[in-house]
Amino acid sequence: MAPGEGTKWEPPLKAPAIEIIDLESEDESANKGLNAAEDAKDRDASTDGSGSEDDNEDSLWEEVLNEDEDQAEIHGSDGACTLEEAQALRKRLRLVGEDRFIAETVEAGIITAKKLCTAFGIRPPFFLDGQPDDAFYPLLGLGICRELQKRVKLPQYNTIDDAVSLLNKSKNIIVLTGAGISTSLGIPDFRSKGTGLYSQLENLGLSDPQEVFDISLFREDPSIFYSVAKDILPSSTKFSPTHAFIRLLQDKGKLLTNFTQNIDNLEGHAGILPEKLIQCHGSFATATCIECKYKVDCQKIYYDLKAGKVARCDQCIRKIREVKPGFKRKRSSNGSTGARKKRQSYEDSTDDEDEDIAVAGVMKPDITFFGEDLPKRFHDRLIDHDRDKVDLVLVIGTSLKVAPVSEVVGVLPRDVPQMYISREPCSHVDFDIDMLGDCDTIVTELCRRVGWELQHEMVREDKVDVKLQDGYDSRYSFQIVQA
Ligand SMILES: [Zn+2]
Repeated sequence: MAPGEGTKWEPPLKAPAIEIIDLESEDESANKGLNAAEDAKDRDASTDGSGSEDDNEDSLWEEVLNEDEDQAEIHGSDGACTLEEAQALRKRLRLVGEDRFIAETVEAGIITAKKLCTAFGIRPPFFLDGQPDDAFYPLLGLGICRELQKRVKLPQYNTIDDAVSLLNKSKNIIVLTGAGISTSLGIPDFRSKGTGLYSQLENLGLSDPQEVFDISLFREDPSIFYSVAKDILPSSTKFSPTHAFIRLLQDKGKLLTNFTQNIDNLEGHAGILPEKLIQCHGSFATATCIECKYKVDCQKIYYDLKAGKVARCDQCIRKIREVKPGFKRKRSSNGSTGARKKRQSYEDSTDDEDEDIAVAGVMKPDITFFGEDLPKRFHDRLIDHDRDKVDLVLVIGTSLKVAPVSEVVGVLPRDVPQMYISREPCSHVDFDIDMLGDCDTIVTELCRRVGWELQHEMVREDKVDVKLQDGYDSRYSFQIVQA
């Protein structure tokens, strides 16, 4: 029986299915094998007319797909493919293409669609429990589509020696960094749960802590942001060995660009040149008036930030005061003397000042809020400058979950080697070499092997144990050997 035929099940999906069809519509002839997704769309269209329910279902499907699952856990669970099976199946899909792959597997009755989903990192969702197997076709179709869109790992780079030689020979390295490169300094990732900041936000009655970085809410009530700003304000200029490593790449003439998601500006303190540094989410280095766009060094509003007091724009205040005398004349146009005017304005001055300040524009630190565009330099640098030059990509200390920074690796030429350094593996990108563990430990060990001297007070002469992870050809764990 061909997939999608003779099923009574009404698939609960709409938007993702349409997406998949759009992607494949250029090649209609290819849509013969697994077209459950298309069937799903057709049936959906025929019974359409509702709306809100479908929307709920859509988000449910998206959730299933977007959940960043622990792959080891999926492959270890009952009825799932083992890691080895999953790797072999993915390889086979790329080799023979979608149609033949489906013919060889599900259509040949060798494996169920439910089980095959797990080969693509999809855990069968609870709402399909007990459903016939073709209920899993749409999900499988999406998983296959997602797999085929991924950049394919380059087969020639696998070992730590490969990593060392890439560092040695590359001349234009893009380094993509996230919160993980600052955690060794005790700087928490303020967007992750469990930090003091988040419980404080709960006290403020925010339903989603990210609201504090919502630009429309900031315009409405800047005091919310200012009440917590002191907790996310970088308190130190001390940088980590990983920052020093990026600086070392720059000193060796190998750093093309450091794209960082961090707003702590520690790259700047480590000496990364401004022209080589793109702070994708902005930084606390400067602040801008939301009304007149007057820009100041953040030091100028530092005390307001520390005190949790909304900082107002000096330029706006000055302008208001220039206009003010006119208003005053109007107010005292009953022929009062200049002397009286002066005295009156002197008496009123305290109130006036408060009033002036209250209507002046609010200063916003130049970190990028939700709903704001990323700095224009981000796109310009990436597309117009880096894309044709880059010869190695190093992703350090970020799980690449926040768009559009997460899209950087997808924009670059696919034959450029990509290496990953972080605590946790990143399952939605196939890097050529994964190095897992403490970032500082890994870059220190890499430098030792390349023969570079990484100077930093936190760098110690530890012996590091590097182990290939079970079931992988290019994923290593780095651990300091306890003496
Ligand atoms: Zn202003």
